[in-house]
Amino acid sequence: MHPTQSMLGFIFFCLLLAVSIGIFSYLIYRRYDLMRRAQPENRFGEIGRRIKETLIYVFGQKRLFKGEYFLAGVLHALIFWGFLVVSIHTVHMIGGGFVEGFHLPYLSPQTRLGASYAFVRDIFEVLVLAMVLAAAYRRAILRPPRITRSWDAVLILTLIGTLMVTDFILHGAETALQGYENIRSPVGAVLAGFFNGWGLQDTTLQVLQGTAWWLHLGVLLFFLDYLPLSKHFHVITSLPNVFFRNFHKNALKPLDLENAETFGIHKLEDLTWKNILDIYTCTECGRCQDACPAHFTGKPLNPKKINEDLREYIYQKDSLWTWNRGNGGKEDLELPLAGGVIHEDVLSACTTCGACEEQCPLFIEFIDRIVGMRRYLVLMESRFPEETKTTFRNMENTGNPWGLSPDSRADWAKELGVKHLSEDEEVEILYWIGCAGAFEDRNKKVASSVVRLLKKAGVKFGILGNEEGCTGESARRIGNEYLFQMLARSNIETLNRYKVKKILTHCPHCFNTIRNEYPQFGGNYEVIHHTQFIADLIEQGRLKPTKALEKTVTYHDSCYLGRHNGIYEAPRKILQAIPGAKTVELPRNRKNSFCCGAGGGRMWMEENQGTRVNLARIEEVVESKAEVLGTACPFCLIMLGDGVRQIGKEESLKTVDVVQLLNESIEMD
Ligand code: SF4
Ligand code: SF4
Repeated sequence: MHPTQSMLGFIFFCLLLAVSIGIFSYLIYRRYDLMRRAQPENRFGEIGRRIKETLIYVFGQKRLFKGEYFLAGVLHALIFWGFLVVSIHTVHMIGGGFVEGFHLPYLSPQTRLGASYAFVRDIFEVLVLAMVLAAAYRRAILRPPRITRSWDAVLILTLIGTLMVTDFILHGAETALQGYENIRSPVGAVLAGFFNGWGLQDTTLQVLQGTAWWLHLGVLLFFLDYLPLSKHFHVITSLPNVFFRNFHKNALKPLDLENAETFGIHKLEDLTWKNILDIYTCTECGRCQDACPAHFTGKPLNPKKINEDLREYIYQKDSLWTWNRGNGGKEDLELPLAGGVIHEDVLSACTTCGACEEQCPLFIEFIDRIVGMRRYLVLMESRFPEETKTTFRNMENTGNPWGLSPDSRADWAKELGVKHLSEDEEVEILYWIGCAGAFEDRNKKVASSVVRLLKKAGVKFGILGNEEGCTGESARRIGNEYLFQMLARSNIETLNRYKVKKILTHCPHCFNTIRNEYPQFGGNYEVIHHTQFIADLIEQGRLKPTKALEKTVTYHDSCYLGRHNGIYEAPRKILQAIPGAKTVELPRNRKNSFCCGAGGGRMWMEENQGTRVNLARIEEVVESKAEVLGTACPFCLIMLGDGVRQIGKEESLKTVDVVQLLNESIEMD
């Protein structure tokens, strides 16, 4: 007899279901309510792409199988896919509580499709059980450092395992009672063989069947209600989190400096609904932690921990006992987010390299949140690393972070006969030099190389000379949006006055800001990185490298050129075009590249904690046995060049921009 065939059983079933669904709905509402009260954000555009990528990254689990995480990815994916397959069976089970023998259309065990489903379901249930045991072994015995060990995970694995085992017993008892031809469950058939072999009577089998059924249902409903309270809430939130992911991560959102009363992230309510969904969704898998250069080099920043701390704060603040009723006497719940729940040293350690976001299987975003908290500290409380005070002052007074005279901005170009736009506006492209190219000795050489190459190829270009100003990129990422907008508006006014359409720059930070952030203030230009432009000139035959460079060369991917803008091949094409150059890849390259330590305004900050990020990267370069390190970013050139000097390897390891190498390889007139 089915467990709900008796009146008492049926009433109990209905009550259990109603109470569980009621609790679940209430908890979901509570979680949703916080998102509803958060800052708005439009994530509804590009629906086609959202649907496609949700299929790929949620249902296909694509990001889980990356490199060293392949096995852990398989483990998780099998549990996930198993869950999907088994959820059909869950519908059958709940439906069967109301109507005996309930099945979704075409899935009755008597149909071929239904029999196939039962077979596949059993396979997946076995796989899920095996994966649960493997995950338990990994957590308890292997203990990878990136995983946060918690009772929550133990409970979840136990619940999933119990669901599988009770289902096996249920199928076994049913098969033994009803006969093999009606059930078509391979695992059930095996277990029924055991039950029959042990000589279990029908009454015992019925008790077994009923117990397994109720236990399975009870665990399932408990699991459902527990999810919104645990870190496994991601079972529910992963899909919307991936669906609403940010397709335009390379641009920070502008602040309305004129009308807003407060700036940046201070309280929970300052987070956007997507920030909160991100925090709910983190599985604590630790991939972001492994990728983070700050964490890797011993700084207090760990992106995973940011999520854990914020989630704990949210869950405590939004607990059943404190919701809308004060803080329940807990002082911690009054802490501000910026500088309170998340310490200032944690916030200032971020290089905004994007490695965490690149690695996260669920596209959880960090940079907006970190910069949002920095913005609050800088704009509302004037709290920022002491040394950046000078940087801000220099940018404001001289238009460059070095504080050098703006009148000397074009001095580097004096001998090169470069035209200023004020002399000739009819140019093919504007060469935007950037502050490093204009004022820093190593980068002045890069700018000179670009100029020689452009001239050699017959490109008609011009510069802005003293009319160019700092783009404000570092100021924005440190959190000084006010200074950034001031600098950005001034540059845009100049560019628009000259009706500039196309800009070439050798600085990925200028490239990213002008290309992706200046449109927020009316500056719309086609922006090209020098490696793209020069790789094209080589391809068109306008530049022909002929002189051999018999050296082993490696290339360091800049975060703002690579991860933030997807430009990986152009610098490599330039190196490959140089005769005799033997190229080797660093172990962490392209999307997985390791930061030089200068992004996010870190270029202008002291690095007193842990080891230096540039030294960690240089260690890899030295191990690669390269004799030349090619870069494509002024900050990388400075940081890595300094790193090489610090370890006393300048003689054996030369650090240059890739176009400097090309320049040497081309016969100049
Ligand atoms: S952006 Fe880079 S430095 Fe910042 S938290 Fe992510 S990985 Fe760490
Ligand atoms: S943010 Fe993403 S990568 Fe980092 S622990 Fe959470 S789920 Fe894993």
